[in-house]
Amino acid sequence: LFNFSAGPAMLPVDVLKQAQEELLNWNGQGVSVMEISHRDPAYVHMAREAEQDLRDLLNVPDDYEVLFLQGGGRGQFSAVPQNIASPDATVDYLDTGIWSGFAIREAEKFVSRVNVAGQVQEGAKGKEIQSPKDWKLSENAAYFHYCPNETVDGIALHEIPDVKAPIVADMSSNILSEPLDVSKFGVIYAGAQKNIGPSGFAIAIVKKSLLGEPQKQVSSIMDYQLQAKDGSMYNTPNTFAWYLAGLVFKWLKAQGGLTSMGERNRHKAQLIYDFVDKSDFYSNKINPAYRSIMNVPFQLADDKLDEAFLKGAKEEGLLGLKGHRFVGGMRASIYNAMPVEGVEALLSYMADFERKLG
Ligand code: PLP
Repeated sequence: LFNFSAGPAMLPVDVLKQAQEELLNWNGQGVSVMEISHRDPAYVHMAREAEQDLRDLLNVPDDYEVLFLQGGGRGQFSAVPQNIASPDATVDYLDTGIWSGFAIREAEKFVSRVNVAGQVQEGAKGKEIQSPKDWKLSENAAYFHYCPNETVDGIALHEIPDVKAPIVADMSSNILSEPLDVSKFGVIYAGAQKNIGPSGFAIAIVKKSLLGEPQKQVSSIMDYQLQAKDGSMYNTPNTFAWYLAGLVFKWLKAQGGLTSMGERNRHKAQLIYDFVDKSDFYSNKINPAYRSIMNVPFQLADDKLDEAFLKGAKEEGLLGLKGHRFVGGMRASIYNAMPVEGVEALLSYMADFERKLG
């Protein structure tokens, strides 16, 4: 089976097998990792090792906190303004798709002005993100927020923006997919359920110099400073998610780290885009320069065939291909855990389907 779901997504099989083996007896303790205190030295050791592995993978500079939090990606939509902007601040957001829109509406609750600095547009080569020269940035924005990979729309900004304000990025669906220069960012956050581990868990990588005074009403569990001080254990963390994330980080290191993941991910995506571009039956409406390497939406020439396509795919063991309910069509999410064999199986099914019904 290959699971193309956008999230919660497929985890590496090796990781799941290891977790299964250790489920009843973790680290020789005779009990599951879920039944051990997060203050137990063995657990703390594992948790710190997971943090170090993540730091190694992303080359996180020392002047950044790495936080393991709860509340998923959306939790960070409200944590960010409350932690790094005052209530009377102006903040800049790019509105590039569905997730940016949700982030904007959440930020509006916590700051006096959310300026939408740039958007998506229809260009000659398809849907694209406005060029930075057309962005309307504020003079004194507390931060600039964008979502480099819009999971639903399959649109991506591959260049890190060159702006004055600290950059905040929602990397829920592209974190760890390729090498990244963390030093260009003020905050990077991600809900875990695509490239890291179970849903409900989140990671925030925060430049220490941004940890000034959080807003008064920020809830303690969302307070970056408090969580940093307590090693992300202000309250009981999601111990199982943290453990699984740690296994995923070790798996990524064993795969050759992010350089090798990046090559693999670009290759997988290119196989699908090339196939779709050559076909008269399938299409992708995003300008090639802005196409995601994690989420590949595609449409059939006749949407009346969508159901038959999905039914046949399921019979072939190709799961989770239905596009998001807001946009319809199909979407193949090909996060780190998806092997190239999964993509090949998908393309072989697509070719077959086109031959029979196209
Ligand atoms: N941001 C992006 C880019 C996402 O893809 C998602 C979920 O898919 C979220 C935020 C929301 O994450 P969560 O459901 O963990 O709150």
